[in-house]
Amino acid sequence: MRARAISTSASNARVGDGNFFSRSRDGRRAKTRARVGRGRGGRRIDFLERAPGMARRGRRRGRRARWPCAGASADGDGTSTAIFHFERGCAYGTKEMKDLLGSKGSGLAEMALLGLNVPAGFTISAACNERFAARGSTYVQSELWPDVLEAVSSLERTAKRTVFRSGCSLVGRAPLLLSVRSGAAASMPGMMDTVLNLGLSDACVAACVEAGFDERWVYDSYRRLLAMFGDVVEGIPKMDFEVALSQARSANEVRFDSELPAEALKKLCDEYKDIYVKHGKTFEQDPMNQLSKSILAVFSSWNNPRAVEYRDINRLSGLLGTAVNVQQMVFGNFNDNSGSGVCFSRNPADGTDKVYGEFLQKAQGEDVVSGVRTPMMISDLAGTQASAAEELNEVCKELEKDYKDMMDIEWTIEDGNLYILQCRVGKRTGTAAVRIATEMAAEGIITRDEALMQVNAKQIEQVLHPVFVIDETSAEYSGKIVAKGKPASPGAAVGAICFSAKEAKEMKAKGTPVILVREETCADDIGGMFAAEGILTARGGMTSHAAVVARGWGKPCVSGCGDIVFKNDREIRFGSSDKTFRSGNVISINGTTGEVLNASFPVAPSTIETFLPLKTFMQWVDQKRGIEIRANADTPEDADAAIRNGASGIGLVRTEHMFFSTTDRVHAIREFIMAQDETSSTIALEKLEKYHYEDFRGILKAAAGRKVTVRLIDPPLHEFLPSEKQLREGGAQEMSRYIGKSTHDIMEIAENMREHNPMLGLRGCRLGILRPSMSKMQVRAFAQAAIDLTSEGFPVTPSIMVPLVSTVDEFHNQRDLVWGVMKELAKENQQPPIRMEIGAMIETPRCALIAGDLARAGASFFSFGTNDLTQMTYGFSRDDSDAFIKPYIAKGLLRDDPFVTLDPVAVAELMDIAIHRARDIRNDIEVGVCGEHGGDPASLRTIDALDVDYASCSPSRVLVARLAAAQAACSRKEKVKTKPFAVTAA
Ligand code: PEP
Ligand code: MG
Repeated sequence: MRARAISTSASNARVGDGNFFSRSRDGRRAKTRARVGRGRGGRRIDFLERAPGMARRGRRRGRRARWPCAGASADGDGTSTAIFHFERGCAYGTKEMKDLLGSKGSGLAEMALLGLNVPAGFTISAACNERFAARGSTYVQSELWPDVLEAVSSLERTAKRTVFRSGCSLVGRAPLLLSVRSGAAASMPGMMDTVLNLGLSDACVAACVEAGFDERWVYDSYRRLLAMFGDVVEGIPKMDFEVALSQARSANEVRFDSELPAEALKKLCDEYKDIYVKHGKTFEQDPMNQLSKSILAVFSSWNNPRAVEYRDINRLSGLLGTAVNVQQMVFGNFNDNSGSGVCFSRNPADGTDKVYGEFLQKAQGEDVVSGVRTPMMISDLAGTQASAAEELNEVCKELEKDYKDMMDIEWTIEDGNLYILQCRVGKRTGTAAVRIATEMAAEGIITRDEALMQVNAKQIEQVLHPVFVIDETSAEYSGKIVAKGKPASPGAAVGAICFSAKEAKEMKAKGTPVILVREETCADDIGGMFAAEGILTARGGMTSHAAVVARGWGKPCVSGCGDIVFKNDREIRFGSSDKTFRSGNVISINGTTGEVLNASFPVAPSTIETFLPLKTFMQWVDQKRGIEIRANADTPEDADAAIRNGASGIGLVRTEHMFFSTTDRVHAIREFIMAQDETSSTIALEKLEKYHYEDFRGILKAAAGRKVTVRLIDPPLHEFLPSEKQLREGGAQEMSRYIGKSTHDIMEIAENMREHNPMLGLRGCRLGILRPSMSKMQVRAFAQAAIDLTSEGFPVTPSIMVPLVSTVDEFHNQRDLVWGVMKELAKENQQPPIRMEIGAMIETPRCALIAGDLARAGASFFSFGTNDLTQMTYGFSRDDSDAFIKPYIAKGLLRDDPFVTLDPVAVAELMDIAIHRARDIRNDIEVGVCGEHGGDPASLRTIDALDVDYASCSPSRVLVARLAAAQAACSRKEKVKTKPFAVTAA
C-alpha cells in the first residue's frame, strides 16, 4: 500500500504527523518519521529521522546521500506546513500534492523520490501565497522568513555550497546560486514570474572571477539576473534590457547572445545597472534580500492582470495561489558542454513513441522558449551529448511509468551532467492523445480504463474535423486571435468574410471559400450557411439556430461572439481593436475552441478513416459504455456520417430542418403556411411530401435497420418566414412572386401568426393538433419510405415521436393521427400496417410528471428534449438567456450554462422522476435523451447516472459522446436511483 501523503488541504497539513517519503532504487517508497524540533525563535521545525534499516541511495550505484536532511518546516503560527524540501532520493511531498505544492513543486518532489537528478531545493507552499494575500508582505518578511533562512541553510548543507556573503572565499567552489520560480496547481504558462541566478552581486561576481571561474559564464549569468530581477521585482520594462542586449550584439557583430565575449557581457552588466538608475532604482546587492524580494514578487504575480485574465478565460478557480520553488541553480550556459532543453516523452502532435523536443547549447532554459536562437531538435542531442541523451530517454520512460502519462520535461545539461528541472503531464492533440493512450495500454503502462480516462473526450473531435495545420499552442497562432465566442460546432475553417447569405452563395459559386458572419442566423440564411466553410455569429448560444444547424452539418461554427461590433452592414471590428474587417477580408475560425483569427491558416482534413489506433480505442470505449449513442440527423448524408462514426441509430430527425436545405423547399413550406384554402395547402404539402419521402428513404437506408426516430413538426410556423423587417424591406414582394399572393396578404397572414412568446406558443404537438395536415403528410412520407424499403429487402426500424407533449390527451390525439395514416397506407398498399413505434418527447415539467400516465396510454418510448426541458424548468429563454447567463456565471450565480451542461439537480431530478414513473408502468420502456446535452461530456455523466438507454447527439459529436459515456461508466459508482415523488399525475 502506498505511504500516506500529507493532506493536500493546506489547513489540514500539519507537522508532527508529516511523513517524509524516500524511494530506493527499486522504486519502492519508504516512509520515515518526521521529528519535530525547535527552530530559530522557538518555531517548530521538522527534521527527519531515517526509518530503521532504510537505505537512501542516489540514482547512481554506490552514491549515498547525506543524512539527515531537513524535511518540512512549520509556518510561523506553528501549525501549517509551509516549506517542503526535496533533494535527489528524498522529498517531503509527492506528485499527488499538486494543490499545495503546485504542479512544479509536486513534480520536483516526485522526481526527487524517483532518484532523478533534480537540483536540491525547497517549495514554499501555495497556502503561503494565500496567507500573503490575507496578511501582506509582513507575513513573508517576518512570519515566514525565519523558516526560509533555515531552509536555505539546509540547502547549503545539501549542495555543499554557500550563498555568497562578504568575505566568503570561493576558491575551489562556486557560490550557491538560486532559481526562484512560480508554480500553481494548474498550468498557467508564462503567466507568473521567475528569477534565475539569484545570489550574484558585484562582490560575488568579483570573487568568482578572482577564484578563476570562467568570466564569460559569470557575466552572462549576472546580466540575466540583472534583467530578470529588474523586470520581475523592480518593474523595469523588459524592453529596456532587450534593447541594450541587441545593441551589444550589433556592436560586437554577433548574431546570438551566446557569441558575446566576456568583455561585452561585463559591459552589458554595467549598462543594465545604469538602466536601474535611469528608473530611480538600484540593484539589490544582498543575496538574501534578493530572495525575499523575489518571493514577494512571485506571490504578487498570482494576481497580476494577465494571470487573473488567464484564470478567468480558462475558468480556473478554487486554487490557493502559486507555490514558490527555490532551487539550486545548474547552468546550461556554463560552457560548450552545457545546454538547456524542453522535451515530451512522446510526440505531442501525432503521439509517436519517440522523445520529441528542442534544446539550445550554452543557454539557460528561458532562451529555449523565448526563441532567441532557433533551437536544435532533440534527435541531434545524441550527436553532441551521447550519454546525456541516453539518460534523458531513460528519464522520459521512468517518468511515464510513474505518472502513467505522456510527460513534458524541462532539463539542463551542465558540463555534461543532466539535471531535470521540471515535469508535468504533456498537452497533446486529439490524434496524439488516442495513439498515446492506446499504445500505453498495449505496453502495460496503463489499464484500458486508464487509457479511456486519459483522452479528453472533447479532444477526440479533433480526430474528426478539419484542423489547422499550424500548432494551436504556438505563439504564431495565439498572436492572431482577435475574438472569442462559443465553440458551437468543432473544426477549423478559413474564408472571406460575407455578411449575407446571398453574398456567401455568390462568392462560393465563384470558387471563393467564405465565412458567413451574421448577428445571428435564421431560416433565410440557410443557403448561405450551407455555402460557407464556417459560420460566425455575434449572438446566440450553443443551441442557437446557427449552432444546431452547423453541428448537424459538421460545419465549423463560432456562435455568440460578443466581441463582434457591427460598424454597419458591410464592416465589423473585434472588441476594442480599431481594425476594420470588410466583406472579402479573410479570417479563420476555430469551432473547437471558439477562437476567431485574423489569419489564413492552412486547414487539413482529419484522418479518421486511416487512423488505426482510433479503431482499437473506440472498441474499448464501446465495451465499457453503459448507454447507447444515437445521432440527431436530418439528411441522409448526416445519417450516413453518424453511422460511420458509430451511432447505433438515429435518435432524432428534426423534420423542419428538412425544409431548410434548398430554396425550393423553403418556398414550398412558405406556400403551405400562406395557404388559405384546402387546395393550395394540398399542393404545397404534395411538394413537401416528395422531399420528405426521399430524405426519409435515405436516412432509413443509411441506418441499415437501426432505429430511426422521426419527430413531427415542432417549431412555430412563423419561424419559416422572413422576419417582419425583412418582409417590409422586400421580402414580402419576393415571396409574392412565387406564392402568387399579394404582398398585403402575405404581410397580413404573417402578422396574424406573430406571437409574443413563440417558445411557449403554437408549436410542437399543439401545431400538429390544430394543423394536422402537416403532421399527417410527415407520417405518410415516413411510413411509405419504410414500406417501400421493406419490400425492396432493406431492414428498417421506424418510430415517430410527438414533440412538446404536456397532457395525455395531446398524446392520444397525435397517436390516433399516426394510426389513422398507417391504416390508410395499409389499405392503399394492400398489406398489413408496418410496425411503427410511437413515443413522446418529454420537454415540459408537466410531461415529466405524467410519464407514468403516458406509458399507460401506450407511449412506446420517451425521449427527453433537454433543451426545452431546461428552458421550461429554469424559465430561461433558449433564445435570450445569453444576456444573463454569462454575467450569472461571472458573478458565481451559476456554475455552468444549463443549456450546455445538463443541470444535475432539478432537471436531472425531473428526468429521474419521469423514468421511475414510466418504468413503474412498463419496466422495459425505452428512454433516451435527444437534446444538445447528449453530446456534452459533463452532461453525459449525469445522463449515464440516470436510468436511460441512450443519448442522441449531432453526428459530429458521436465519437465524443461514445467516449464520454465510457468515461462516465469508468468513474460511475452506481446509477442514481432517487426515490420518485408519490403523487399521481393526471
Ligand atoms: C430539445 O428540446 O431538447 C429538442 C431536442 O428539441 P429542439 O431542440 O428541436 O427544440
Ligand atoms: Mg424541443
